[in-house]
Amino acid sequence: MNKDMLNRLIQYKNVAMRMKELGFVRVFSVNLADALNINPVKVRKDFSQFHIKGKNKGGYDVDYLITKIDEILGKEGVEKVVVVGVGNIGSALINYPGFENVGIKIVAGFDIDPAKIKQDREPPILHLDKMKDFVQQENVKIGILAVPEVAAQRVAELMVSYGIRGILNFSPAKLKIKNCIVTDVHIEAELENLVYFVKNQEKISTTKEKQKDDNTY
Ligand code: ATP
Repeated sequence: MNKDMLNRLIQYKNVAMRMKELGFVRVFSVNLADALNINPVKVRKDFSQFHIKGKNKGGYDVDYLITKIDEILGKEGVEKVVVVGVGNIGSALINYPGFENVGIKIVAGFDIDPAKIKQDREPPILHLDKMKDFVQQENVKIGILAVPEVAAQRVAELMVSYGIRGILNFSPAKLKIKNCIVTDVHIEAELENLVYFVKNQEKISTTKEKQKDDNTY
């Protein structure tokens, strides 16, 4: 499946989920086409390629459509990921479109600050209280942790208790977590390292230059 097709399937599913939330039981190719700004013929072609069948009276059953797309995406190995802590780093990650190219979809962000909550954007940013139900319903196994250091351990423990099995940790905290793979991304430490080596290299070059100069006398 190519990248465009994958993106379309993800968007069809998002539209179907939104329609379901609004109480619709059926969705038409024209609704999906409008939402994606494409021709309804393309929607029907996509669906027939994946053997997604319409109803006799037209339209597709919303639940059936979501399940079918989930099955297809599951086969394609699209991994759902949540971001916890939607500050500078968290929101940059949520808004970065490049993850979809590698089969990763950020499905939601979570925060405790009411000012950060935005339920009607895609992906939505929800209150931390909603994380348990969300990750269990959506079967999310991977989380990105971008909360302040003081909160990191407690939030990571919550994530694991809700079923998260892998954490990409952007906080400076050294997490002590069982039953979960943690990968640390310590940007400050990496930069510090780089600064140290660049400075040292400068020192070595200056000493070498000085030695060369000394030798000329
Ligand atoms: P960043 O560290 O990403 O640059 P920032 O400086 O904007 O972010 P931080 O104080 O590091 O802000 O907090 C990052 C985000 O984590 C904020 O949006 C904050 O509301 C959120 N946050 C703080 N504590 C928790 C918590 N216990 N659970 C979830 N989110 C939290």
